[in-house]
Amino acid sequence: MKKTGGYLLILLLAAGLLAGCMNVPSAKPVPAAESEQVQTVPETASQTETELPVQTETADTAETILQTENLAAEKTFSWEKVLSLDDIPPFTGEAVIEINGNVPFFTEEDLRASSSFVSYSDLDGLGRCAAAYGCVGTETEPAGERTLNDQIHPSGWHSDTYDFVDQLYLYNRCHLIAYSIAGSNGDPRNLITGTRYMNTKGMLPYENKVLRYIEETGNHVLYRVTPVFEGDNLVASGVLMEAYSLEDSGSGLMYCVYAYNVQPGIRIDYLTGDNEEDGSYVPESEVSEEDCKYVVNLRSEKIHLPDCESVKKMSELNKWPTNLSLEDLIKKGYEPCQNCLGGQQTGK
Ligand SMILES: [Zn+2]
Repeated sequence: MKKTGGYLLILLLAAGLLAGCMNVPSAKPVPAAESEQVQTVPETASQTETELPVQTETADTAETILQTENLAAEKTFSWEKVLSLDDIPPFTGEAVIEINGNVPFFTEEDLRASSSFVSYSDLDGLGRCAAAYGCVGTETEPAGERTLNDQIHPSGWHSDTYDFVDQLYLYNRCHLIAYSIAGSNGDPRNLITGTRYMNTKGMLPYENKVLRYIEETGNHVLYRVTPVFEGDNLVASGVLMEAYSLEDSGSGLMYCVYAYNVQPGIRIDYLTGDNEEDGSYVPESEVSEEDCKYVVNLRSEKIHLPDCESVKKMSELNKWPTNLSLEDLIKKGYEPCQNCLGGQQTGK
């Protein structure tokens, strides 16, 4: 990008932030506690802070503009402050569970975010990531090309394969904040050793909720993903994912969930990342795309008939072929496609 382009980008960004984030309400805390006193905080309280820190240095991509290092230090968050391991029940087959009644742990100060940013915590002495945090919107989405992260070995990294794991590799270099949301290319502070199962069954659907909300509304989401490392373990037991839509005070999007870093059929030594088959793997009643009743798009959360045009365009990662009934899928929160299913709300 030429220099003028860089300046233009900064201007556009600044304008977007002013328009998008100035009216972020300061008086609607997420946690129920303290709500009384907070609602008396005058709206003007945050307005003095909305002078945007316009970066004066030229930058070639939105990524470098938005990664404000000093924010990382200010926003240090550790899961131990809000969770104990007793709050996390053992994995019983659900990839994700709700935590804290699905209410995120953002503070009032967090909710007063008046500009978008993305910050990553520094690696600790064992080379482990901590919270990745941002106020994300369309302007934090990736501007450049995605590069490979092959050279990065997150803590506990092993490249082991099993023939019953989707795409074979047990572990993925798992972005804390998804590339599609913040466009971080190969930042070791944003990559952990995560199972294929956690990456696709646990995190992806919740990342997609953020992306879809941002794209549909143009609003901003406070978003934080925190790996939970127990003791000196090099592999996280799971990740805490929190999201809160700012402009509508969480009514558009709010969740607080924990995704288990497990892989059915494999025993993981979280201290080292070593792993072995545990003999418990039972193939899910494998449903192929050719032989299913419906194909759900996990990104758009729409249900399609297998021969719908949309299925051909769908990314493989987002495809879920299933034989569940339409009613059951609707109960899970998916919506019938307008084209192939006429948006019908009841199944046969
Ligand atoms: Zn369709």
